[in-house]
Amino acid sequence: MHIYPDAKAVIAAHAPDEAIILNRPHAAMRAARFFNAKFPGKVLYAVKANPAPSLLRVLWEAGLTHFDVASIAEVRLARAELPEAELCFMHPIKTRRAIAEAYHQHGVRTFSLDSAEELEKIVEACRDLKTGEPAQDLRLCVRLRVSSEHAQLSLASKFGCDQTEMPELLQQARQHCDWLGVCFHVGSQAMTPFAFVQALDRTRAAIAEASVVIDMIDVGGGFPSIYPGMEPPPLEDYFALIAKHFEDLPIAYNAELWCEPGRALAAEYSSLVVQVDKRRGDELFINDGAYGALYDAAHVDWRFPVQALAENLRDPMVDFSFYGPTCDDADYMAGPFSLPGDIQAGDYIEIGMIGAYGAAMKTGFNGFGNAEEFTVADEPMMSLFRGDRKLPQSDNVVSLR
Ligand SMILES: *Cc1c(COP(=O)(O)O)cnc(C)c1O
Repeated sequence: MHIYPDAKAVIAAHAPDEAIILNRPHAAMRAARFFNAKFPGKVLYAVKANPAPSLLRVLWEAGLTHFDVASIAEVRLARAELPEAELCFMHPIKTRRAIAEAYHQHGVRTFSLDSAEELEKIVEACRDLKTGEPAQDLRLCVRLRVSSEHAQLSLASKFGCDQTEMPELLQQARQHCDWLGVCFHVGSQAMTPFAFVQALDRTRAAIAEASVVIDMIDVGGGFPSIYPGMEPPPLEDYFALIAKHFEDLPIAYNAELWCEPGRALAAEYSSLVVQVDKRRGDELFINDGAYGALYDAAHVDWRFPVQALAENLRDPMVDFSFYGPTCDDADYMAGPFSLPGDIQAGDYIEIGMIGAYGAAMKTGFNGFGNAEEFTVADEPMMSLFRGDRKLPQSDNVVSLR
């Protein structure tokens, strides 16, 4: 595999006509090692954030052994790439056939659920194929609904058992497994660690009422990455508060603590290089957009860091908005994206931090999105793991030190 020094070297060599993706294995490796070393429990990677086989292999090499998969296609993909990985099927609504294939063909033992119907599906689908005996080795994880109020993207309305129904579901699930966990998800890009404190408080109430033995607490994803205007407190603060509140839970003395980050592990892995096809005032028509790796920039006004790659631009910065390449008005990204005022058609722009929910969102709509990938050695445009971050002074920053 050829490794280029940076985006400029890739452009010099290839002058790409279509958007391209640049991968930084060293950045994903560093993120995974950071989590593995500092999170006070087991770290799973949530594959949906970016299922690129190259990334799965980097994370495995960095020491991650457990992967959170949410569809049978993700199960097959992760199993094909990582034959020895422990796969956990953490989507609370699955088909019987997907459960059966995961259990009988791919060795999946850990399943999440948020209803009695799903429990019944899992128990039935995992019966011994010859004897019809119930599985003896299921590891079940009941998903509790928690608030998403501190997160940039909500995951609060779709999944999760209500707190009032949780005790009964925990008691039912306990009858079908020797290992029972509780999981939740506070929403993606949680900007304060107190999101996890609130969720663990709810967990405590549900467990106390159920009075069943709990063997594992999975605090889910939601750990932030860093973007313009979204500078979170240090991840160590999240880990410290989670550890403290985990220890207060009424659970088995040897209970495990898990987390399932997607964004925080994947965001720094990739950037995108686009070319300006046309300039119209302060609007730039670029060759990737709402149906490509910039889905979040278009649909939830996510702001990604940008830099112009041409050497000869001298003018002061101007705030631009972007249009993507498809023939659709909705293919628009408000930004603002700050770039030199003399940028013009033909110039290239690097857009950083698209490793999570960026590269993974590409579609082939309108014939675009066929992004070629290259590996580069330079640093991501922003990083939580490089160790050189100056902490922002703002109201939503909580420092525990
Ligand atoms: C999406 C998802 C994750 C990852 O969330 P991030 O916010 O990317 O960390 C983890 N667990 C489950 C069940 C998910 O659906």
